Amino acid sequence: MSQHRAELDIDRKARAYAPVLPVRKQDAETRLGHFEEIYLTYEAEIARAEASRCIQCPDPAPCVLGCAIGNDIPTALRLVEEGNFIEAANIFRQTSPMPEICSRVCPQERLCEGSCTHGGGVSLQPIQIGKIEKFVIEYQYATEGIPLGQVDPDTGKSVAVVGGGPAGLAAAERLRRLGHAVTVYDANPYPGGLLLYGIPAYKLQKERIVKKVQHLEALGIRFVTHTRIGQDIPLQKLADEFDAVFIATGASVDSVPKWEGADLHGVYTATEYLIRSNVPVDLQPHELAEKGLPDVGHRVYVVGGGDTAMDCVRSSLRLQHALDYSLDVTCAYRRTEAEMPGCKAERVNAREEGAKFEWLTAPVRFVGDEEGNLTGIEFVRMTLGEPDESGRRRPVPLKGSEFVAPADTAILALGYNADPLLGETTPNMATDRWGLILIDQDTGKTSLPNVWAGGDAVTGLELVGTAIKSAQKAADSIAEFLKA
Ligand code: SF4
Repeated sequence: MSQHRAELDIDRKARAYAPVLPVRKQDAETRLGHFEEIYLTYEAEIARAEASRCIQCPDPAPCVLGCAIGNDIPTALRLVEEGNFIEAANIFRQTSPMPEICSRVCPQERLCEGSCTHGGGVSLQPIQIGKIEKFVIEYQYATEGIPLGQVDPDTGKSVAVVGGGPAGLAAAERLRRLGHAVTVYDANPYPGGLLLYGIPAYKLQKERIVKKVQHLEALGIRFVTHTRIGQDIPLQKLADEFDAVFIATGASVDSVPKWEGADLHGVYTATEYLIRSNVPVDLQPHELAEKGLPDVGHRVYVVGGGDTAMDCVRSSLRLQHALDYSLDVTCAYRRTEAEMPGCKAERVNAREEGAKFEWLTAPVRFVGDEEGNLTGIEFVRMTLGEPDESGRRRPVPLKGSEFVAPADTAILALGYNADPLLGETTPNMATDRWGLILIDQDTGKTSLPNVWAGGDAVTGLELVGTAIKSAQKAADSIAEFLKA
């Protein structure tokens, strides 16, 4: 426990009864008119009052154990309570390379806030840790800007990072700060990976990613975009030219079952849909930028139950403003709401914005007209059977319950797979049957002598915080290797 916290003398009982002070959000009608963030940032006094609910649990505090990267949350909250916002921001920066992003996109209800003692206490409301973190980081941006921090003298060693998503950026920063020359390669026109190309702007404004990349450039990290390793440059060439390579290509390939009619006009993958509706045109891959906004009809179905499905639902609802006509947007999920893997807050927001839900409903095929346009979706109703390997009850089709729902647009948000390209084009690098790169779990090292990997390319789709943690572990192993 830090000295700062050890000296505390607080009335824990009074704090336990203090009501939560949630951050305000825009009303649904206002937020449907744009793609800007819906949650407002705390005002200073409200942030201090909310932080003062924290009872400063003794080590190990449950919130710290629940945080994927081990942020010292109690100390940061104590500093916020005292009004020391910059110090609090720097506490988050000690463990997190991108608190401006984690504070917005981490599912805190399942992590720090889900573990908070207050959640199970009298108030039944955890401390609003994510929103307080966002407040102090935004305060820092508005006052001092992001501190550049220390970079060690040049070591003469070089590292190539393949993929500019959260894992790639986290590893690049850690290695650059140790004095290594770092080059990040990314296939897209701009780094950021799923942060830029997957998460909608109303949850994470794109400007924050651009600022983070500019910050890394200021540290001396070089970015090479429009370059797909394994296609434009063989991985082995990087391994030969650099002292070490870190692979962080993520899991960005949409999972699309072989349904009849999935190639009809009007059926989209979540990735294409989210990029074309959310990402500024100058940052979109050329082949998508030239298509413009998605071609959306009045009746929209999103198939899936995770956060990406809600992202597609809520992006569709926002497109009404640009399209100037109303949409009927329905999320079809094969289980019930209780089994949905996505965040509850996202569903609450989606409902407020006008989303509908069809539970226990799964597509069988997509129906089109003679010109190849989607006109309907044949669904089948489901019931829940025995639990599967995930522990959730398995959906089982109800025979004879098929029906066709009229539809103009269908968006498939059914999860992501790793990109198999690097495994397929690098014969000596071991991967599993799903294309995930096999690594030593303690070091992140692959089967190639000077190549490491981390993040979703190794685990499949995971949380941003989990990807950052694995990247930091691999970066530390690379740093040890480079010392030799
Ligand atoms: Fe504070 Fe909750 Fe963490 Fe306890 S678990 S230290 S109450 S934020």
